[in-house]
Amino acid sequence: MPKLIDLTGRQFEYLSVIGRSKDKGNGRKPVTKWDCLCRCGKIITVKSDSLLSGHTVSCGCRKIKHGYANKERLYQTWKKHEAALHESE
Ligand SMILES: [Zn+2]
Repeated sequence: MPKLIDLTGRQFEYLSVIGRSKDKGNGRKPVTKWDCLCRCGKIITVKSDSLLSGHTVSCGCRKIKHGYANKERLYQTWKKHEAALHESE
């Protein structure tokens, strides 16, 4: 049994964790879910894993590609790429 990490009050980008959800999923293995308030005002239920891995950072109003946790660096890379393109023109 994995130790329960209390995420209440934690902030994950757009989501603030309000508290533990009663929803334990439909599978045989119960999952820990959390009620989260999105910045846009919507309340959604998110699994611990999704929050901690950075997979879910909003109710869906802010899209994030799976695996791209460091958006700022990605943006910098893109900017450098853009600059390089212009230089070679
Ligand atoms: Zn939202």
